[in-house]
Amino acid sequence: MQELPELDIYRSLLAEKFAGAQISGIEVSSSKIFQASNEQMQRDIIGKVLWFVERRGLHLLLHLDNGKRLLLHLGQGAYLYIGNQTDLPSRSAQLKLVFGEVILYGVGLRANDLQLLSVKEVEEKLGKFGPDALDKRLTLERFVARFAKKRGAIKAALMDQTVISGIGAAYSDEICYSAAIRPDAKIPMFEQESWERLYAAMHKVIKEAIANGGGGEHSISAIEHAAGNRPASFQVYDREGQPCNNCGAAIEKIDVSARKAYVCSSCQKDL
Ligand SMILES: [Zn+2]
Repeated sequence: MQELPELDIYRSLLAEKFAGAQISGIEVSSSKIFQASNEQMQRDIIGKVLWFVERRGLHLLLHLDNGKRLLLHLGQGAYLYIGNQTDLPSRSAQLKLVFGEVILYGVGLRANDLQLLSVKEVEEKLGKFGPDALDKRLTLERFVARFAKKRGAIKAALMDQTVISGIGAAYSDEICYSAAIRPDAKIPMFEQESWERLYAAMHKVIKEAIANGGGGEHSISAIEHAAGNRPASFQVYDREGQPCNNCGAAIEKIDVSARKAYVCSSCQKDL
């Protein structure tokens, strides 16, 4: 799982490691993953300097010094690894972005997960998404307004990137748990106070996850790996049958809008 906290951690690691560095090569395993031609790669990527790394919702944007952007999406099971010719990720990589001796590997990438775009094209692609969950302009009022047309379960709406971007299967469960609201609670039932709890929980859960290193299963480099994998610190996500850290009741796995969700039925209520 790669949601806002994990991608934000990638963003800061990539910025720290590569901002100002020149891209000396790029290799992709298939033109499905990255549709650019060899000519485009030679002209628009190789030799260019990576200026800046941005995260928007569930995407990473690598800003190149020619004004182009590399838009990277990491789907289920995909991850990044910083290594070199001999220090490789544990699974085969579909993307190698070479910065001299150092190589950024992309593992588990699927069709169109990497795209070379102009600024205008980036806006066209990402413009349909809602504000980032951590966007400072997303006040409580605006947050509530984003859900105005929604009638279904809160979990599905939290995961809907056109409502708010950055939250997926894991953190939607964690946010609902932190707000003491069931993931299958129906939006029309919500009171002002429910929204206030949900809004506060969203910030708390995401910020704590970033501070704790996220819930990613893969280390980004061998050095980090040697230091041991980060323990996932989820309260309910993927913890079916285990005791709730608050009340001791068993965490249940339920279906919400055709997706699985994890809930403590004793701590979480409909409002
Ligand atoms: Zn509980």
